[in-house]
Amino acid sequence: MHDDIKTVLLTKEEIDARVQEMGKQIAADYAGKELVVIVLLKGAAWFATDLTRAIDMPLRVDFMVASSYGNGTSTSGSVKVKLDVSEDIKGKDVLVIDDIIDSGVTFASITDMLRHYKPATLKTAALCDKAERRVNGLEADYVGFKIPDEFVVGYGLDYAGDYRNLPFIGILKPAVYARK
Ligand code: 5GP
Ligand code: MG
Ligand code: MG
Repeated sequence: MHDDIKTVLLTKEEIDARVQEMGKQIAADYAGKELVVIVLLKGAAWFATDLTRAIDMPLRVDFMVASSYGNGTSTSGSVKVKLDVSEDIKGKDVLVIDDIIDSGVTFASITDMLRHYKPATLKTAALCDKAERRVNGLEADYVGFKIPDEFVVGYGLDYAGDYRNLPFIGILKPAVYARK
């Protein structure tokens, strides 16, 4: 698995440190509020479990399964919800967590859908941000790292379902794409 990585972009230590900072920031911003975090499965699960433990205040956690990508490395442009929220988020302060914001289509579609449930506030957090790739001008409210326009894997991010359990974030060797 590690042999398939060309470059390590973010080490485990860099990720851990930044996630702690993000948690402190979010806890400060939401002090006294009724925070519900919504984790976009599968990719954001790794980031979200670390991030929520770094947010030192009461909060609730919910999950959504939404997919816009097939097995490839670019978006199909349409987001399908396969599992919707189960928490009642009406009047709550909602933070949607994804692993990475790329075109921005996922966050745009999900926040559009969640707005129908009338949360008090609705914000977004992503560990990585490929700002160059945005098609809709959307900015996440909390971003861990701005990264270059490269397809990355690890810490939840997959290629064709693999590499999610790498503890760091890296760029795959081109040979990997040729073989799958
Ligand atoms: P967007 O909808 O913003 O284009 O893309 C967000 C989703 O695309 C993420 O939740 C993630 O599933 C996937 N994605 C975007 N860029 C990458 C990447 O570099 N690597 C991986 N593994 N997934 C990505
Ligand atoms: Mg995703
Ligand atoms: Mg994926």
